[in-house]
Amino acid sequence: MPDLILNPPMNGVSKVLLRDAYPLGRGGEAIIYPAEVSGKVYAAKIFHDSKNIDSKKIFAMINHPPGKMSQQVAGIDYPMYSWPLGMLYDSNNNAVGFLMPLIDLKQSFTLDYYYDQGLIGKLNSVNEYALSYRIEIAMHLSEMVADLHEHQHYFIDIKPQNVRVFKTTHAVTLIDCDGFSIYDADTTSRYPATMYSSDYIAPEVLKSNLAATKLGEEQDLYGLATIIFQLFNWGIHPFQGIIQPGLGEFDTNDDKAKALLYPHGIITHPQIKPRPQSVHACFDDVTRQMFDEAFIGPAASRPKARQWANHLRNLYESKQLAKCTVFPNDIKHMRWAGKECPQCFIESVSQSSLQPKVAPISMPKPVSVSSYAKTTSTNNANTSNSSLVTKPKKSYAWTWIFVPIIFGIIRVIMHNSSPVATTGLDSAPAAAPPPTYTPAPIYHTAFYSDSNGMYSMMSSTISQSDADGQTYKACGSACYKTPVTDRRCISIAISRNNTSLFGISTGDDIASTQKSALEFCNQTYGNCYTPTSAASHCAD
Ligand SMILES: [Zn+2]
Repeated sequence: MPDLILNPPMNGVSKVLLRDAYPLGRGGEAIIYPAEVSGKVYAAKIFHDSKNIDSKKIFAMINHPPGKMSQQVAGIDYPMYSWPLGMLYDSNNNAVGFLMPLIDLKQSFTLDYYYDQGLIGKLNSVNEYALSYRIEIAMHLSEMVADLHEHQHYFIDIKPQNVRVFKTTHAVTLIDCDGFSIYDADTTSRYPATMYSSDYIAPEVLKSNLAATKLGEEQDLYGLATIIFQLFNWGIHPFQGIIQPGLGEFDTNDDKAKALLYPHGIITHPQIKPRPQSVHACFDDVTRQMFDEAFIGPAASRPKARQWANHLRNLYESKQLAKCTVFPNDIKHMRWAGKECPQCFIESVSQSSLQPKVAPISMPKPVSVSSYAKTTSTNNANTSNSSLVTKPKKSYAWTWIFVPIIFGIIRVIMHNSSPVATTGLDSAPAAAPPPTYTPAPIYHTAFYSDSNGMYSMMSSTISQSDADGQTYKACGSACYKTPVTDRRCISIAISRNNTSLFGISTGDDIASTQKSALEFCNQTYGNCYTPTSAASHCAD
């Protein structure tokens, strides 16, 4: 592809060199490529069909960005939003896409990596288990959503997969920003969002069956509270629980949210119990009160993003965390002051002294009001050995809070003395050398059953929209479908007590995936088995 033209130019430069041999991610709507302006690398979203480019919305975004677009940690700038920087045109002056900051996919991970027990190990750092870090991530996310709201922009499709978190620094970047609901303060026009995702749709939206185009701040505040709850409760969804038998069909978290069957309230719900491994009772009282307001209070009184940000900053900075009395030197055992240690609680429930049980990975399913297809970016898990960051100071719990600052200082020193040292620590996206463009394979797995309960797998490197289409074709509407996931393997285990109850897990190898599906099913429903060999399957 020839050079592209950037409007508005950047520091007077409008020439953009597209590296179209190295796509970073591709989807039904567009492909993301690296692109150079004056020698600095950005990301270019190039649409398959220029008719799908909403130029007015992109220009409204360029003209009205959030107040703070990048975060400086240890002297390095991290982009906070994949926000459009300029429109891109071909030599015939046709719009082909837009330029945005390059997000380093090797140093950042989707937010679920920081709470999913099956994923957090891939961060290769025991520090990442610390409660203080999860509070820090929630605080950064809340501050960024608050900034959006102060400009009357809304996230709407808020979900962990649209939030990337940098290891060690916990800088947060929101992606897929062109899907946000955008307000143009000059023309007072709004360019609505077109998509939201299951598990992150507010109860009143589910009840009224409202389209994503109609939604605003209250939808974001529900999604934000849901993500914070999952961060603190190892992935358990606020409406995930064990329902009283005979109450009816409430198969999904959304079904329960619609009926306000919230098992984690300060006042116990008579019809739904929390899962045994839920640690909600270990949260501090103010956090629990805010969750109650977010999930079962009136939508208009949901805690604002700024309220969450202030509360979390207060938790983070004012020493409201404490050491575990049994394992005072184990970073995994950090707890809220005056509350039971969550890790000890999980271990007592799971009767295992090593590993808390894994909740099933339920991937949010995008719901669109149009044929809009999302761009899927590669989720490139970096497995480099971070030996320098796996040795926390264990003398005082409060040193954990300062670990990022200490690492930052070490990094600056190491960077100045020897470039080799950067292999042991995260390097920053802005200052890093041009990335090596070796895209990881994108696995899409999906699972379906026919009306006789015969479970089958689909699994290959197919696109998300294809996978959904094939599911429908093969099974029709009577089939149960899992959301399509980006993991290589998927497994299901069914309870003999009631075959409509089952556990699903996704993972990277067949044995551990099958084991975690069985474990989850047994723990929650009991008497479980893997129905057929096809019920556990990995992509090629
Ligand atoms: Zn403990």
